[in-house]
Amino acid sequence: MILPIYAFGQPVLKKVAEDITPDYPGLQELIENMWETMHLAEGVGLAAPQIGLPIRLFVVDTHPKEDDKKEKKEEPKQPPIRKIFINARKIEENGKEWTFEEGCLSIPDIRGDVDRPERIHLRYLDENFQQQEEVFDGLNARVIQHEYDHIEGILFTERLKPIKKQLVKRKLDKIRKGEVKVDYKMKFLRK
Ligand code: ZN
Repeated sequence: MILPIYAFGQPVLKKVAEDITPDYPGLQELIENMWETMHLAEGVGLAAPQIGLPIRLFVVDTHPKEDDKKEKKEEPKQPPIRKIFINARKIEENGKEWTFEEGCLSIPDIRGDVDRPERIHLRYLDENFQQQEEVFDGLNARVIQHEYDHIEGILFTERLKPIKKQLVKRKLDKIRKGEVKVDYKMKFLRK
């Protein structure tokens, strides 16, 4: 089932999300719905707050899409991942900061350069609630850092450089009001 994606302005996107237990109602179905919703919207990651749930759950799929394969790109350091992260906690981030142009399904039509460290070291539970500890780098780290921010109530637009922040202000107001065209289902604060 395709779920509506909560748009910038929705209070749930600014909450620090909470841990869940294995008996969380309908968890398997929720995860399936998140995959379906993310793939349809052509995202590389989706966090539960983006579908209106303030829980520490996100999914990441960094496999290149057909269109991307045509472009020549630098070899990623780690192979692409397709993973579910439950109750994730950041142990540390390290390595050289690098710039990458980010976007977000909750903030359509806005992209911008964000600096983040090269690697992230995480402790999390997989879909079977088994504890995992792993270090991610390259694009995998980048997407995880973005999604991890979501469960901490942080949006990438808060990490843009001050000038760019000014530039996107009006566009953000428009998204908040639902004055934006998107080709996937969204839930705006006022509409
Ligand atoms: Zn996002």
